[in-house]
Amino acid sequence: MSSQTTNDFSIQKVEKSKIASIDFENVKFGSVFTDHMLVCHYKDGKWGQVEIKPYGPMSFEPSINVFHYGQAIFEGMKAYKDTEDKVWLFRPQENWKRFNKSAERLAMPHIDEERFVGGLKALLNLDRDWVQKGEGNSLYIRPFMVGTHPGVVAGPSTEFMFCIILSPARTYYSGKVKVQIAEHYSRAANGGVGSTKCSGNYAGQFYPTKLAQDAGYQQVIWTDDATHTKLEEAGTMNVFFRIGDTLITAPTSERILDGVTRKSLIEIAKSKGINVEVRSIVVQDLLDAHAKGELKEIFGAGTAVTVGQIEGFAYQEKYYELPVVTDEDSYAIQLKKALQGIQQKHIEDTFGWTQSI
Ligand SMILES: *Cc1c(COP(=O)(O)O)cnc(C)c1O
Repeated sequence: MSSQTTNDFSIQKVEKSKIASIDFENVKFGSVFTDHMLVCHYKDGKWGQVEIKPYGPMSFEPSINVFHYGQAIFEGMKAYKDTEDKVWLFRPQENWKRFNKSAERLAMPHIDEERFVGGLKALLNLDRDWVQKGEGNSLYIRPFMVGTHPGVVAGPSTEFMFCIILSPARTYYSGKVKVQIAEHYSRAANGGVGSTKCSGNYAGQFYPTKLAQDAGYQQVIWTDDATHTKLEEAGTMNVFFRIGDTLITAPTSERILDGVTRKSLIEIAKSKGINVEVRSIVVQDLLDAHAKGELKEIFGAGTAVTVGQIEGFAYQEKYYELPVVTDEDSYAIQLKKALQGIQQKHIEDTFGWTQSI
């Protein structure tokens, strides 16, 4: 293995890339990882050197914090390649800032921009062949941090590992989904950790989502924990509703994740002259709009799928189908095309969101 140290990053390359063995046309999301990963350890109150090295297993004592008390946070972002083979990131500082907000809430240390964004760029540069060109292709980026101090004393870890792994992704049109509005379970509560990307949020969501799936729906629309009337998120995505020609999404709060896709779609919609209302929206608003024939679209927004269309929702044992809207008339499709066009660099980025590495 060749080793070198540049700009405080230590880089150890694989002897032989495994890229030739990858069937990029058919990769399953999140199942294949690139040749390298980034690892950085926090100890004695400070971050150590960023190490970029071959992707592979790690070994830890069974007593480390994350296995018992779950100090674990993550981010999700994507890299894209344009027709000139340049690799691009989309608003990476937003993910870095949000990572630090999550870290703070979980009593974990902040990480500096140089290690997070600078380290990511160095890693991507090494694995740039893994970013495939063309419609729908991207490289999914998963930064995460876990408590690594050994010992089962219930308290915050004093040692942490920051890591970035990369996984080639292809977005297929996955079809519209049916959702169930949550009436009992909650994803988040005031004063809780719902606005952070901590791993436990996901673990707590698996069981109610499975119940919804057993009942014939693919996802849950999460409501506020106190009244189960406010419509807040769809699965692991932010959620938008179109009533008449107005696009509505809930304001971010302690229960709602401040999604980069959500805020980008709001800006794109406004720039297209679409009327956007950021306000709380309740189940009764939906039922009323549906009865009047004004409820036209519901869609989720998040990095993994960009925009995920919803075909209908269940509430109190009753299923409500949404009307069929043509692609030309659909806000979901228009906004998805506009956002993906900016990300993939075939639409001019007038917002200044994309950065080449
Ligand atoms: C990550 C996430 C989102 C979407 O955020 P993006 O930055 O758009 O990917 C929405 N809701 C939850 C609960 C999330 O964890």
